Amino acid sequence: MAVKEKADIPVLRTVAELRALRRSFAPEESVGFVPTMGYLHEGHMTLIGRSLEKNDHTIISIFVNPSQFAPTEDLDTYPRDLDHDMQVITDYLREHEHELGSGKKVDAIFKPTVEEMYPSGFTMDISQQRGAFVEVLGVSNPLEGKKRPSFFRGVATVVTKLFNAVNPTTAYFGQKDIQQTVVVKTMVRDLLMDLHVEVVPTVRNEHGLALSSRNKYLSSEMLSQVTCLYRSMKLSLDAYTKNSTTSVDALTQIVTETITSTNSQFRIDYVSFNDPETLDYITEVDPKKGCILSMAVYVPNSLNVGESQETRLIDNMIFPALS
Ligand code: AMP
Repeated sequence: MAVKEKADIPVLRTVAELRALRRSFAPEESVGFVPTMGYLHEGHMTLIGRSLEKNDHTIISIFVNPSQFAPTEDLDTYPRDLDHDMQVITDYLREHEHELGSGKKVDAIFKPTVEEMYPSGFTMDISQQRGAFVEVLGVSNPLEGKKRPSFFRGVATVVTKLFNAVNPTTAYFGQKDIQQTVVVKTMVRDLLMDLHVEVVPTVRNEHGLALSSRNKYLSSEMLSQVTCLYRSMKLSLDAYTKNSTTSVDALTQIVTETITSTNSQFRIDYVSFNDPETLDYITEVDPKKGCILSMAVYVPNSLNVGESQETRLIDNMIFPALS
């Protein structure tokens, strides 16, 4: 097989190097920023593509942020592969050269160490942690926050650090992590941060499965079965839009039955309907507002990955206002 040429993108490891690059940009030039945990796929690349299209410069970060993982979660096994990531970017730039224009490039990948990002040091034991952390109250509490209590504290903290290091004009986030977009937007507004946040729709494969780095944990059989998550949300959306079903119990039942009838080993963590702005739990969908359907489901891992037997997948769908 021919060795494919890789994009020549500087990989910066320190905040000082990143700031030096940022200072080299003219004040009026726009800087798009895409924070990621790496193991890039087309979902990430759609965010990066949007940044390349809209900005003079684009910086991406690859950092598996320990403070957003619980001690029981997959921090150690989370896929890390810079060569893979470089190749994905190279292929994307080549495939999209016409739309983007040949001059478009990713200016830098910021790939810091944990020590660089946590100057006060870092420990997974929250009671022993020292230094500055950021909390966004209210919108961090339901859904993922309820299941993963310090998750959004970790996300808000690392995103603040990254924003301070990059100083972007626009940051791009995926609807795939919909609560994260609400938490980050609230944080940017409340902490008077001077940047725009743009949300990019979820990128799915041809069968509707939301692309995710964690899909790597699944066997090909599982990858085809988990498309039931998307199917279940579409069926529920159809009941809302075509049959005017607004009862959350009825809409939830459609989702859970579709998933559990596909594979009885699929373990639903939650299926939830929430207000699109406050993320408050609802029992009835208000057709004037619509809502967010979101879910987390544990599915069996491929046997040869890590110690955990299951992968936790999340997905969501926005139910639009109907009147
Ligand atoms: P992650 O590397 O999983 O932290 O994701 C980095 C960014 O990519 C986040 O803003 C995610 O919401 C976004 N993202 C991940 N998967 C997708 C997807 N399938 N479609 C759109 N955005 C995504």
